[in-house]
Amino acid sequence: MKQQYKSYQQTCDFLEECVKKYPDLITMKSIGKTWEGRDIMLATISLNVENADLKPAMLFTGTVHAREWIGNELAVSFIDYLLTNYSSNPKILKTLTKNTLYIVPCLNPDGFEYSRKHFSFWRKNRRNNGDGTYGVDLNRNFSIGYQKSKDTASNVYSGPNPFSEPETIAMKNFVDGKDNITIALDYHSQGNVFFPGHKFSHEEEIEGTDLNTLCANMNYEIAKVTGRKYGIHRGKPPTKLISGSGREYYYSRGILSVVVEVGTRNIPDFMQNMKESIDENIPALLRTLGEAQNYSTNAPKRVSNFHIDTYTSNEITLAWDYPTNKDIYYQIFRNTEDKESCTNANLIAETYNTSFTDIQLQSGSNYFYFIRCVNNLTKVKSPFAPKVKIKTLLDANEFSKTVFPAPNEIGYVASKLLETNRKHFGLNSLFIGVNETKGTSYGVMQFNLDGIPENAIIKDVRISLYPLNRVNAKIEKFGEWSISFVDQDSVSELYDYEQIHNAQIIETLGQSIPSEKLTQGIWSHWDLNSIEKSILETQLRNKKVLFKISGPTELPEGRDSQMMMFDLGYGNFGGGIHYRPSIDIKYTIPSQEIVIDVLNTTTISEDEIEQDQLICGFDANNAKIYGLMEFDLSTLPNPEETIITDSYIRIKNKSATKTKEDIRYNVEFVDVEDSAYESIQNRDRIEFIGYEVSRADLQKNKTHKFIFDHYSRLALEDVHRDDKVAKFVIRPTYSDIKNHIVNWYGKDSNNSVQLVVNYIKRRKEPIASISDLSLSIENDKVKLNWTNPNTEDFRGVYVVRNRFHIPKNHLDGDKIYAGRDNYTYDDFGNKDISKYYSVFAYDNVPNYSEPLFVGHLKKEDDVAQV
Ligand SMILES: [Zn+2]
Repeated sequence: MKQQYKSYQQTCDFLEECVKKYPDLITMKSIGKTWEGRDIMLATISLNVENADLKPAMLFTGTVHAREWIGNELAVSFIDYLLTNYSSNPKILKTLTKNTLYIVPCLNPDGFEYSRKHFSFWRKNRRNNGDGTYGVDLNRNFSIGYQKSKDTASNVYSGPNPFSEPETIAMKNFVDGKDNITIALDYHSQGNVFFPGHKFSHEEEIEGTDLNTLCANMNYEIAKVTGRKYGIHRGKPPTKLISGSGREYYYSRGILSVVVEVGTRNIPDFMQNMKESIDENIPALLRTLGEAQNYSTNAPKRVSNFHIDTYTSNEITLAWDYPTNKDIYYQIFRNTEDKESCTNANLIAETYNTSFTDIQLQSGSNYFYFIRCVNNLTKVKSPFAPKVKIKTLLDANEFSKTVFPAPNEIGYVASKLLETNRKHFGLNSLFIGVNETKGTSYGVMQFNLDGIPENAIIKDVRISLYPLNRVNAKIEKFGEWSISFVDQDSVSELYDYEQIHNAQIIETLGQSIPSEKLTQGIWSHWDLNSIEKSILETQLRNKKVLFKISGPTELPEGRDSQMMMFDLGYGNFGGGIHYRPSIDIKYTIPSQEIVIDVLNTTTISEDEIEQDQLICGFDANNAKIYGLMEFDLSTLPNPEETIITDSYIRIKNKSATKTKEDIRYNVEFVDVEDSAYESIQNRDRIEFIGYEVSRADLQKNKTHKFIFDHYSRLALEDVHRDDKVAKFVIRPTYSDIKNHIVNWYGKDSNNSVQLVVNYIKRRKEPIASISDLSLSIENDKVKLNWTNPNTEDFRGVYVVRNRFHIPKNHLDGDKIYAGRDNYTYDDFGNKDISKYYSVFAYDNVPNYSEPLFVGHLKKEDDVAQV
């Protein structure tokens, strides 16, 4: 069978045949006539199609732009897939029982045919503009954000007025008459990227999590077929948003609305590329169609005030509000990356409770949580609550540092732009790969490490880059992008192409990213393995680390570009502070050892208390004899900054009475007021130290180590903090022997009992919070003012914004500011939208203080909830 693109007539014929063959499943109708008199055909597909309008529905539109043939082709393939497989595939059957598909394979038939037959790169419809030019960009002719344009020759000419075109008014009339539509997917090419709808504001929207998750779940299905991951592009400042598109019109009517840009070129090789695009999108479409019911008026409402209740380094408790309803339970999903899917693969809990504790988490790590409810009777799910984002606390011995490059230390150097390479630093984007105008182009990225001690032991490292604008960047499935450590001695000038090209590479990171995984709008991360971490450790001595980023250096036949763009976060076209490349380093430092000789030893038996002796065992009456050891901890540093990483008691035995009994001895960390026999007998035991020593052990070894476990180390820190003497008792375990003793060395210049403590110096507790937080409107922006805590250890504040709940963690929302100032403006925010701001003070670890928060609540906006 011939495998090539269908014409519009063939598409209509195909639909007609389907209606004949599957009359219970599909109907078709014309929703309008084009300028050239073609019918704009819409098909309705559902089980018992006569009831289709009563079910929640997904709307598919294709080929709004004439040259973007994927829309029509995918529509035909999807319809064919549904109809020919519904009887054998329970998933399709279930989906079409509960949901309806409205599908317009080609919204721009005139333009499509013009593109097929005459000018393949044609985009608009075929309106005669009356001035010798033709066509209106249908995706600029909808009403939301419509911008009038005069240039009729332009490819994005928006038409004389909104809905001036038969194609757009047909869509408006159809959608306005169908309240059951909950999801709309508009298929375009190219870029392999999702563009979810937006409301022309740089603020989270209540549907933001739904939109991103819808796309991420499509990615989950796409990846199963081809391993590809589309970008999910959302959340940039609203300066360059397109106006008058169908997507924003549907979204304005409460429909979750997404543009899907498919493929790497408009009219790809059918059998090689188009087939792949279709195959990967069909399961994604089916999953999304099944979601239509979860956004209908019959679906449960989303939970409110989903938030972090408490958290530690390895546990997080989440809580939320919901009206009591015995039929409703909740599904909680966890991801470690943003914009990942919520499927069974990451469903971590189902519960009827309104709180949940997640356990066994990693310290100092990012987690993303999602929640939706399920009606246990109907199985219909709710939309998602706005996601919660959190970084767990660091472990007690850990530090972390996020470093951004200085503007003059990040940029790209291109082989054909030798004169201007210097200007590519600290401005807009990194171009990496190859194309005809730039030649071969490398990224250069240097991080200043002087905030990290030279002897740091590196535990985790992540390098992050934000790929952007793949639509312009043109990436085929070809080549891969990688990062290399550069020997800094081999490069004296970062701007010099030849030097970077010939730079001495220490090591290329094992993880490279192939083109199909390099997706715009989703952070690319490089997590270093242990060899790479040890290389970074060697770079600490230089106080800097230099990386070279390389892409392909040659082009496939017939292609002119294989160039990836990464945001630099600087300059007018950079996405700002949020999108700056970074290196995150989690590390610890070598511990120091302190050996503390015992302060006092005492032998305590029923008859007498003997100072400066250390004996344990049994007396003539089988009563126990105890040895008491006391240590003065005042030689340890300031308890607020002492983290004990290891500790043990070293003790040597002098002599012991012989016996064949299996007697064992152990050491207890105790809390006793005095040395009276009574007190020792009824001692308050804090914890056993290490394991017991047996009689046989005494014969084998003279020296014994009793090692502190984690809990005992914390108890030792507490005793130090309370400025007390640390007391330990050595005693035999139970036995009915009489007259048996072990004599240990107590205070003795050569053999003294010793407490060995390994510790690092690190602040344990956060510094005090900021105070006097206030909010005002200045220059049409929200401005926050506060007073910083007055302490030497203050390093800065972190300000975060969240529209839906109070941020309890510095990561839980949009970062507004980090630094030492006592005020900030919310530059991108909309002052007319309700939200919360939290301000955290941090030290050099960093430990984050309790936040102070302020609500900016507008009466008319009920979105923000406490
Ligand atoms: Zn398009």
